[in-house]
Amino acid sequence: MSEIGLKIRVLGDPVLRGKAKKVKEILESHRSLLSKMARIMYDSEGIGLAAPQVGVEECLIVIDAGNGLYKLINPRIVSCEGTQSFEEGCLSVPGVTVKVKRSKRILVEALDENGKPLKLEVQNLLACVFQHEIDHLEGKLIVDYIPFFKKILLKKKITPSSRKTRMENPKE
Ligand code: ZN
Repeated sequence: MSEIGLKIRVLGDPVLRGKAKKVKEILESHRSLLSKMARIMYDSEGIGLAAPQVGVEECLIVIDAGNGLYKLINPRIVSCEGTQSFEEGCLSVPGVTVKVKRSKRILVEALDENGKPLKLEVQNLLACVFQHEIDHLEGKLIVDYIPFFKKILLKKKITPSSRKTRMENPKE
């Protein structure tokens, strides 16, 4: 991994919270970055990775949810329909999964690594991964979807085991 020189940033790193910049001119460095991101994604057994996750504030994402690799520049969602929820994880939020409600089918416009405009209609899991990665470009993370009351529980550090103990010893 050291020859790649990029590492996955985790929750708390401000680069994950910024808004990524659109790529105005696609350079060789962008193509090279997309290849490195794909390699990091595969090495980490992820199904998607956005540039801010490796510390680069530009609109680049890679996705492979089992149907081939997408390397996309300036992706944006132009229409969506339906809803679905998946239990999502994130390489930048290790050890946490969050059930996130998203659109079931989306139409995405993007550029490929050579600047060719693409229109992609995706659905189900793949649509979920696209929305997750495009969220990263807006500085949004899965923890932002945790309901407010659960966040309070997390803050008070009430662990499931301590709650269980209390429930097993109810007051008469
Ligand atoms: Zn993520």
